[in-house]
Amino acid sequence: MEPDYTAGCAFTMGQYVPVKDAHISILDMGFSRSDCTYDVVAVWDGGFFRLDDHLARFARSCECLQLHTDHTLGDIATILTECVRRSGLREAYVEMIMTRGVPQAGERDPRRITNRFHAYAIPYVWIANADQRARGLHLVVARSVERISSRAIDPTVKNFHWGDLVRGLFEAYERNADTAVLVDANGYLTEGPGFNVFAFYRGQLITPADGALHGITRQTVLDLAAQAGVTARVGRVEPDMLAQASEIFVTSTAGGVMPVTLLDGQPVGDGTPGPLTQRLSELYWQAHRAGEWVTPVDYRAPRHATP
Ligand code: PLP
Repeated sequence: MEPDYTAGCAFTMGQYVPVKDAHISILDMGFSRSDCTYDVVAVWDGGFFRLDDHLARFARSCECLQLHTDHTLGDIATILTECVRRSGLREAYVEMIMTRGVPQAGERDPRRITNRFHAYAIPYVWIANADQRARGLHLVVARSVERISSRAIDPTVKNFHWGDLVRGLFEAYERNADTAVLVDANGYLTEGPGFNVFAFYRGQLITPADGALHGITRQTVLDLAAQAGVTARVGRVEPDMLAQASEIFVTSTAGGVMPVTLLDGQPVGDGTPGPLTQRLSELYWQAHRAGEWVTPVDYRAPRHATP
């Protein structure tokens, strides 16, 4: 009998297992040193969204960290599809991870460790709940912590060095907000725990150029804005620009385009989700249903597996 994959399906150590049975060695340097990278792609309405872009970003991240796998990008796409197919999920959060791996006893040289590839599909994850998405997020610009320097940890390589972002979250909760955006050492805005940030400032959309992941949702917003005739650019964003913005939203694969209606305790615009934010969110979800960015998942059992 097939195991029960309804809560999610993982692929690790070359095997598909129910996600609750997927384990990673306590000796894996991915765990003990955060020596790893990952990527997350969404499945919506039975199709991957911008799968090739996520795979390309993952490949670049692996290259930057000198992590190697024998799996080609085609193999990885097949494994991700198989995780989704076995789970049967039509809306899924699909993660791929490369860890440095488990060293031989006493080995300190990362070049001599065999890297490991892992993946899983679980039900779609939202970084803001339904109530927060409807009323808009309450955001703070963190004061107690700054973003890890890009010269130390490259934020364009997706990583689990979340110590600063988690401190930002705790500050947000202390200040009765939902989440936080962090500034860099020069005081420019970067990003928050799991999202990029956009301001609609003086009639243009702007998102931080540096100190942030090149989010695929961020790119999608830039693409959709161009199609809709809205000027959108990446650049330096100062906290003051956020404070003066008529609209603010955050973007993530885990939730799409999510409005921010309170910044540091002050209403953004009239304090309700702005019209441009709503329009971009609609266009974003429309683009998930059909079109060039969608790769449908074939949920039928592969022929060799049918009795
Ligand atoms: N910034 C950080 C730190 C993230 O972890 C994420 C997503 O997890 C993002 C930005 C948004 O990236 P994407 O739109 O590719 O999901």
